[in-house]
Amino acid sequence: MKSSDQRYSMPQDFETVAGCRLENSVRVNHLRKANTPECRALASRLDNCARISPCGSAACSLCCRRARIQIFRILKQFSEGLGSSWVFTTILYFNDALTDAELAQWRPDQLKSRLRRQLHRADIKTPVLGSLELDFQSDIGRWLPHFHLLVLGQRSDVERMRGVILKKNKIPELGRAARPLFIKEVQDIDAAILYCHKFVWQDRRRFVVTPHGKPVHRTRKYRLDAARHALALQVLNRLGLPGLTFKSGVSRATHPDLSEYLSLANGKNHPKGG
Ligand SMILES: [Zn+2]
Repeated sequence: MKSSDQRYSMPQDFETVAGCRLENSVRVNHLRKANTPECRALASRLDNCARISPCGSAACSLCCRRARIQIFRILKQFSEGLGSSWVFTTILYFNDALTDAELAQWRPDQLKSRLRRQLHRADIKTPVLGSLELDFQSDIGRWLPHFHLLVLGQRSDVERMRGVILKKNKIPELGRAARPLFIKEVQDIDAAILYCHKFVWQDRRRFVVTPHGKPVHRTRKYRLDAARHALALQVLNRLGLPGLTFKSGVSRATHPDLSEYLSLANGKNHPKGG
């Protein structure tokens, strides 16, 4: 029998080792520019990351690539044996948007607990897997915490989250209602697995287009400026995969075929984070 490493090849557009080395050089440069003792230490750690001695930081493009390959293969194998399908879900917590100073100290535990309670109230007991991201939202000048998740089940199951989440999720200072929940059936499982485990935080800018004479708001993602990039990298490093991943409805007892995912998400099967 072939191992999962041989059976599941990565999509063609998946990041290359050379691309990750280049990305790491940008990260090291931005950390050195920030020039604090913590940033200089993290810059050295990333700079010294090598295949034989990976640094294991969630701020490292090479180590995240390695983790993403593992996650991809585990979830591809798991998905093959399923009778049901995944639903792609994004949940944004506008009320929890953070300033730069708040992000520097932030812990995700409370937000993750709240998401668990919301899933419970929506009676979603099936596996929910994915990760936490914080993008800098230029229009509100804050970091917006959100989760990209794969929910095992039907779209109608996830729709129950609407009533649970919509009530307290507004951006009053912008004078517009927030859209905190995005639900879509998974068409491309490869892309969905990787999208839900990106471990990259970006600058999301909002702009207006008028395709039919009527203004429509769109957003586009950009690389963070050097100072915010250094901040994001420090937080990614501090949280590590245990802080960044989210899982619910899964245990080694109920889903032994996901135990490798659980080890990775708990930081036990991956070189230690910072
Ligand atoms: Zn590394």
